[in-house]
Amino acid sequence: MRSTVHALWIATVPLSILIVLLGTSLTIAATTFDYQTTKIDPNNLSFYEPSITAESYPQTSATQVRNVIFCIGDGMGINQVTLAGSTVAGPGGKLYLERLPVTGLVRTYSTDSRVTDSAAAGTALACGVKTKNGMIGMTPDEQAYCSILETAKAKGMATGLVVTCTMSHATPASFGSHVKSRKLEPAIAEQLIDNRINVLFGGGRKYFLPQSDPNSGRKDDIDLIARAQTAGYTYVRTASELAKADDSHVLGLFQLDALTTGASEPSLAKLTRKAIRVLKRANLESIDGRYGFFLMIEGSQIDWECHANKANGAIRQTLLFDQAVEAAVDFALKDGHTLVVVTADHETGGMTLIGGGNEDKGDAELAVKWSTKGHSGTPVGVWALGPGATRFAGIQDNTEIPRKIAQLLDIRPFPQQKK
Ligand SMILES: [Zn+2]
Repeated sequence: MRSTVHALWIATVPLSILIVLLGTSLTIAATTFDYQTTKIDPNNLSFYEPSITAESYPQTSATQVRNVIFCIGDGMGINQVTLAGSTVAGPGGKLYLERLPVTGLVRTYSTDSRVTDSAAAGTALACGVKTKNGMIGMTPDEQAYCSILETAKAKGMATGLVVTCTMSHATPASFGSHVKSRKLEPAIAEQLIDNRINVLFGGGRKYFLPQSDPNSGRKDDIDLIARAQTAGYTYVRTASELAKADDSHVLGLFQLDALTTGASEPSLAKLTRKAIRVLKRANLESIDGRYGFFLMIEGSQIDWECHANKANGAIRQTLLFDQAVEAAVDFALKDGHTLVVVTADHETGGMTLIGGGNEDKGDAELAVKWSTKGHSGTPVGVWALGPGATRFAGIQDNTEIPRKIAQLLDIRPFPQQKK
């Protein structure tokens, strides 16, 4: 009945009105492509399927590292991992990242503080050198150092950065740019494009738009999206455009600012799987098909929830990151020559887990206490799988992580001053 009425209505509407209606909806579709900031319920964890086992993943007998997937949980201390794991899998269960067979600890201090920020920590993890808080890809005397991504690229490897913050935020910036201050996001965005990193997936489109665009975050006329397209990038803004992109260089900017991490955007895990596909294909197109890829993925917003001292938000963001780690491990186990390294840049919030209930009454829930709205100086974990993984056992400085990756990829020297 209803469909008949509908059909009759369509039949009686003049064609010209239909065309106007169609035109309007097309215009709306073309201008309002940003995903809506849907209200996120931090307590709804139904997107996450916990591991059915707490067993470690198998250790590989291979020794040759072909690909590296470096996963960084921003602000993800040991307690953030423990809380998320115990929430979804019980006190004896594990997150996927906890199933990586090799574990170690990482010290995170910077040159000017025992408590690092994400810029100095990102620089340590990317370039293998310590710097002052706020600085990106250079030592305190402003000498730029190549990142592990840049040296891998120079060796012929395909490269990628996948994040949930703005593309030019401190952690991804450390892998693909060199600036005195993390606040110089327009300059960072420019360097990321000029570095021709194969995969750039994240938020922060505003730093890629020229100032003539009302949504721009730039103070110049540089149109980085046009520049990227001229340089051969396929540019995508939505999940459906992403699905269709089959180039060796893909720029995916899914929000003007940071990602919302809501269900309407491609998730970090989805972005990770796509990045791996693009990098594998880019690798086939390289002159010598023997080279692999280097991919950094970041769960950028664990830090932000911990700054706000929101435990449920921290759990949700840790699980979104863990899903991406699972995607990386899934590929690595099939590939056999992929090293997966998972760590954090620092801990945020000084999260402490204490007894929240009465265990005698069967109420053994954990309660969360915070000691700061900033970062803490506590060591963070490192988890590794694949060829060379055992090198990450023990307690180490954050600068040692990329140095070890460089050794495994036969990149020398490292650290390496940028010419
Ligand atoms: Zn932070």
